[in-house]
Amino acid sequence: MLRRHAGQAALLGVVKANAYGHGALAVTRTLQNLNVRRFAVATVPEGIYLRENGIEDPVLVFASPLPPFLAAYARYDLGVTVSSRDVAEAVAVTARHEGPLRVHVKVDTGMHRIGIAPEEAEAVTRLLERAPGIELTGLWTHFATADEDDPFFAKVQMDRFEAVVKAVGDAYRHLHVANSGALLQLPRSVAQPGRLLARTGIALYGLMADERLAATAGLQPLMRFASRVTQVKTIQAGESISYGRRWTAPGPRRIATVGAGYADGYPRLLTNRAEVGIQGHRYPVAGTVCMDMFMVDLGPPEGPGYYVEAGEEVTLWGEGGPSAFDVARWAETIPYEICCGVATRVPRFYRTRDSG
Ligand SMILES: *Cc1c(COP(=O)(O)O)cnc(C)c1O
Repeated sequence: MLRRHAGQAALLGVVKANAYGHGALAVTRTLQNLNVRRFAVATVPEGIYLRENGIEDPVLVFASPLPPFLAAYARYDLGVTVSSRDVAEAVAVTARHEGPLRVHVKVDTGMHRIGIAPEEAEAVTRLLERAPGIELTGLWTHFATADEDDPFFAKVQMDRFEAVVKAVGDAYRHLHVANSGALLQLPRSVAQPGRLLARTGIALYGLMADERLAATAGLQPLMRFASRVTQVKTIQAGESISYGRRWTAPGPRRIATVGAGYADGYPRLLTNRAEVGIQGHRYPVAGTVCMDMFMVDLGPPEGPGYYVEAGEEVTLWGEGGPSAFDVARWAETIPYEICCGVATRVPRFYRTRDSG
């Protein structure tokens, strides 16, 4: 499905932040089997992790590099983001002594995070072309609003990028502009034949910032986050639960303690807000979410919660419980932050299913 959207562009799998919490190695290997053969991470250690685990395909590091770390890019054959004229000069020096270095020149077309100004593209390109040991692998930019309804600013950025491509694009092997949002709703960002890449992150995991856009595109979230009930007890009316006594039982209540907390990536902001799924029913979080546990109100002792016992599975999000979109809404954030927040101490299990 994503390939159909990508049209002429090849997918570049964005596996930063432990593949948005899904597990960088498992996701990268799965994508390799689906014939995605280019990857990107945010930081040098993330790139080294892939290399040390046998991933040999091209890996681009999105971060703006600090000169002392450029040697590591050469040693581990990681793609360097050239984000300023200073970085270009440092890259030229490192490439001469320790190269080759593969560089991706980032043009700032309006996000104003990192990147060279469009007016600098000519000078930076010539500087890099003249320097020995440099391969001009990519010329790229990043959208601020590609996943929003109003296409106005994405078009402004696209225009600015195309002007740069016209001036210096021939020097580069690849061009890349699209993220998931652009891939799904800005066909122009993947329309040029031949050497375009689409930097696809969140959509690979079946999510988007916006639930409607995900649904329109037919995306299916991959992640399910589950824990277990570790204890059940009945408390009397007026008794409170957890730190700060933020929840008080309105009557006799069965209360389940769940073995996950904010240290696992279940945000504390879900206190008294979220619901979980147990045995096909939804139950509300009762009281403050703790570091390693939280409590759930199973209702009056005679309700369906009567059948919940220690050991029962609890769906925090995913099949059998609320969606990552619901949880993101309760936690006042976007699904990106929810899924990449799942801590490394949480074991990951993978199952195969039909790819779409
Ligand atoms: C994270 C990131 C992406 C991927 O964005 P999605 O919205 O997850 O597809 C692409 N490009 C850059 C520069 C990024 O930082």
